Amino acid sequence: MKIIDLRSDTVTLPTDEMREAACDAELGDDVFGEDPTVNRLQDFAAELTGKEAALFVSSGTMGNLVCVLTHCRRGEELILGDKSHMFLNECGSISAVGGVHPHTVPNEPDGTMRIGDIESAVRGVNDHWPRTRLICLENTHNRCYGAALTPDYMASVAAMARKHELRVHLDGARIFNAAVALGCDVRKFTSHVDSLSFCLSKGLSAPVGSVVCGTRGFIAEARRNRKLLGGGMRQAGMIAAPGIVALEKMVARLAEDHKNARRLAEGITGIPGLSTDASRVYTNIVYFDIEAGKITAEQLQERLEAKGIRALPTGPARFRMLAHYGIDSADIDRALAILREVMGGVN
Ligand SMILES: *Cc1c(COP(=O)(O)O)cnc(C)c1O
Repeated sequence: MKIIDLRSDTVTLPTDEMREAACDAELGDDVFGEDPTVNRLQDFAAELTGKEAALFVSSGTMGNLVCVLTHCRRGEELILGDKSHMFLNECGSISAVGGVHPHTVPNEPDGTMRIGDIESAVRGVNDHWPRTRLICLENTHNRCYGAALTPDYMASVAAMARKHELRVHLDGARIFNAAVALGCDVRKFTSHVDSLSFCLSKGLSAPVGSVVCGTRGFIAEARRNRKLLGGGMRQAGMIAAPGIVALEKMVARLAEDHKNARRLAEGITGIPGLSTDASRVYTNIVYFDIEAGKITAEQLQERLEAKGIRALPTGPARFRMLAHYGIDSADIDRALAILREVMGGVN
């Protein structure tokens, strides 16, 4: 029985071409800047995102942290969404490691923060107050239904940031999903930010790694901060090579994941006891709720698991499922059939 693992797009396995690329990669010591494959990945990522330079890092979490350390000094403040991954799911690393103070602003259901709310959070000059340095955006927005922020929205945040002499960082873990969903070049998003981090190891299916992009000067300093965190890697071309394949071959197919996510959500709306807002499927992420009193998320998870379906509970009655490489429409249909069967046995 094939296990249909819908917990996350991080469970994706590398393609055969990625495995071959890893084996055949030309290698060197990347701490000396001498791994030709890492350099090729970094140059390619910089070109794709329209930035001067890029840096290969071990994870999205490290990418965001390296960027924050590069933008902010201890005691300075950054503004970010209250449902952002950087605020909720990164071990408080910006304060634990960087001494940087997070100032949260509410995320709207579509992953944006109101410009007025961000602007009100910007500190003035006062001996009592931390100095605001940075605004962080997340695109697509994981907790907010995988919503894609539009280039126009990002431009308006950037304009406000410039007015206050603030920098903008993009947690673009799934920025290529945003580009595919809105049908535009990824540079339409990245042109509005000073730095970004994106994941190779999610929907793009590479086994390891993220890439940070910015100006040459920013990346030189980010490289130093990566080393400080213990993230300097040696013959990293072994893991960078699949990343190159990911960027070359795996971006366009994200559209298929978006279609499958929609198919999943539409199917769920027809299952008694479950509810989801199918109009809130923007990319590859689906959230759904169990009607009160039916069955707990934990129980549902167990029953699904017994039938080969994996899903991630994100609350006492809430689930997340993601469509990704390795999951086709037949798998979605099977997952729906099993959900219907399990829910049919409830009461
Ligand atoms: C997954 C994710 C990250 C962190 O990436 P890791 O590689 O898991 O550390 C950061 N931001 C968002 C929005 C994510 O979904």
